[in-house]
Amino acid sequence: MPDSLTLALSKGRIFKETLPLLKAAGIEPLDDPETSRKLILDTNVPDVKLIIVRASDVPTYVEYGGADIGVAGKDVLMEHPHAELYEPVDLNIACCKLMTAGKPDQSVSNGRLKVATKFVESTRRFYAEKGEQVEIIKLYGSMELAPLVGLADRIVDVVDTGNTLRANGLVPMEHIADISSRLVVNKASMKMKHKRIQTFIDQIRNAVRDKSND
Ligand code: AMP
Repeated sequence: MPDSLTLALSKGRIFKETLPLLKAAGIEPLDDPETSRKLILDTNVPDVKLIIVRASDVPTYVEYGGADIGVAGKDVLMEHPHAELYEPVDLNIACCKLMTAGKPDQSVSNGRLKVATKFVESTRRFYAEKGEQVEIIKLYGSMELAPLVGLADRIVDVVDTGNTLRANGLVPMEHIADISSRLVVNKASMKMKHKRIQTFIDQIRNAVRDKSND
């Protein structure tokens, strides 16, 4: 179908917080990704489907046309600085901050600062802008552990309440960026399905505005 729509979402917080916005655009999934193993979910609109992908894969699916539209955290988008995507709406959901953190008492070990993170690109840019030479150690999760076992002096991670840092004896240090989820759109889809996608964007934008006025 020429004007069918495929939306890429990740499970968890982004999915839950995107649902009311989709509902405002008249779209409701027929399955719950938390309980279903399906990766393609039908919706109440016959030619609109949701695909469930890893949060860090959303920009890739949308850039290459595996989905027309996606919802991705700014933290994830900042790791794909050259992705050919439109980013028309800040959804103002899944808000947090990208920060450096470390042990409170830590004077930096001699030599270069070691920074453990899964946000390699943002970390590289942040320290380059400060003119500080650091060694970046790529991890895929549980970054908080790295300073505790001497793997790194600092971590770069997303921080919401700060509870995870506190529970591990770490303190937030430098603010790198405010993070929220964004609507992203494939460039070819925007051209080929312009009317439908523009209507969808307008509906989502209005829903975000209504929510912030509540
Ligand atoms: P916190 O509330 O600071 O304890 O956050 C707990 C953990 O949840 C953090 O270490 C992050 O890995 C993750 N987290 C919190 N907020 C977000 C978000 N908006 N997007 C992605 N991960 C998040």
